[in-house]
Amino acid sequence: MGKTNHIPVLIVGGGPTGLFLALSLRQLGIDCRVIEKKETRTQHSRSIGIHPPSLELFDRQGLIEPFLEEGILIRKGHAYLNQSRIGSVSFDSLPGRHQYVLSLPQSQTEAILEAACQEMDSSMVCRGVTLTSYETTQDGVRVHMQDTEGTDGDVGGHGAEGSEGASEVTTCDVLVGCDGKSSVVRELTGIEFDGSNYPDTYMMGDFEDTTPFGEDAMITLHQDGLVECFPLTKGRRRWVVKTAQYVDAPTEQELKEIVAHRTGYDLHQAPCTMISSFGVQHFIAETFAKGRVVLAGDAAHVVSPIGGQGMNLGWLDGEALAKALQAFLLTQDERHLQDYSKRQRAVARQAGKRAEWNMRLGRSFKNRWVKQCMLFLFVRTPIQRVLAQLFTMQKLGAWRV
Ligand SMILES: Cc1cc2nc3c(=O)[nH]c(=O)nc-3n(C[C@H](O)[C@H](O)[C@H](O)COP(=O)(O)OP(=O)(O)OC[C@H]3O[C@@H](n4cnc5c(N)ncnc54)[C@H](O)[C@@H]3O)c2cc1C
Repeated sequence: MGKTNHIPVLIVGGGPTGLFLALSLRQLGIDCRVIEKKETRTQHSRSIGIHPPSLELFDRQGLIEPFLEEGILIRKGHAYLNQSRIGSVSFDSLPGRHQYVLSLPQSQTEAILEAACQEMDSSMVCRGVTLTSYETTQDGVRVHMQDTEGTDGDVGGHGAEGSEGASEVTTCDVLVGCDGKSSVVRELTGIEFDGSNYPDTYMMGDFEDTTPFGEDAMITLHQDGLVECFPLTKGRRRWVVKTAQYVDAPTEQELKEIVAHRTGYDLHQAPCTMISSFGVQHFIAETFAKGRVVLAGDAAHVVSPIGGQGMNLGWLDGEALAKALQAFLLTQDERHLQDYSKRQRAVARQAGKRAEWNMRLGRSFKNRWVKQCMLFLFVRTPIQRVLAQLFTMQKLGAWRV
């Protein structure tokens, strides 16, 4: 990392939230740096759904083209109860230019955002640099960092203690923690992270697409639990199935058997490129801003991945925070940061409730008729429009900075 004595905004974490915030700040003419502890980007496909409000943000920032070139436009989802088709939910009725959810693996999304940062300023993102500690001064924050080289690159607890990399100190007006669920910035700041684990567990895999769904999504509510599948780039499809308990070492075979049993689709000939399992949590920071230290993205809130909102929420934070930081840097009035915290906490709580609702819908059930009536209402009546809006994060950020 080059010697930087002072930077207005220092962002910790070069995931989707940190990179987008950096781009938003630069659009407003605010100088910033992103430090990212990993030397190279992870290739895990993780998040795949980019919702219309995020696409609109990318549009406004002139970033949309590579997303549209690389991603798949999901315009419709088909709903099944056990193996009977109930109907479809179309996103055609959504307001705005982007009447679809874009499917793109998170690794590609991050690559696009990082390339845009590089294009603006090749020194904006500093990889291989870990925040280890900080202290607040009278008019800013003094930040201690270490080259990840010589460490295992994994900052658990309060930082890379005992690591061998070269250290460096820089000062900034505001320190922003975009450093994910186990945020070191949040821990060092002493901000509580309230929440718990849900009992729900899932298995997930990416396979070559052998279904007839093409660019559409599919959701099956089976009495033994949910199955969802979404188109992916490179002719693949992401399958997610609810499991009775957490599966420590998931196998392709187990997932294929569950899919065949609940949906009738035979994936046995379909090559698999990723298999994993996950439990689900909900957490929210007690505040997103304490003095000159601010949180955004997963560092501030974790919602269930079912419904695919986590990464998108981080971008909504990024847009709101860039404006709040602009106002703060002009006036030095911390109320702008507090307003950001209040408003984005409300957005995150609302998204968390929607995610919980999505998850409940996918739980195993005994009374088939209740589910059937619900599904019929959802896909065959005007409620369908409401459902399309809920699934695509509409009206979440209506109350913005
Ligand atoms: C299985 C799964 C599926 C998902 N699907 C979706 C989906 O379809 N749609 C959706 O919107 N969301 C989805 N999510 C959630 C999404 O992946 C996260 O919400 C998103 O990655 C959060 O981005 P972030 O930038 O806030 O944090 P992260 O992606 O966690 O990035 C944080 C970065 O900070 C770096 N860092 C950490 N500590 C330090 C330090 N001390 N110094 C320097 N750098 C540091 C890390 O290396 C990391 O790169 C899914 C999640 C999972 C697990």
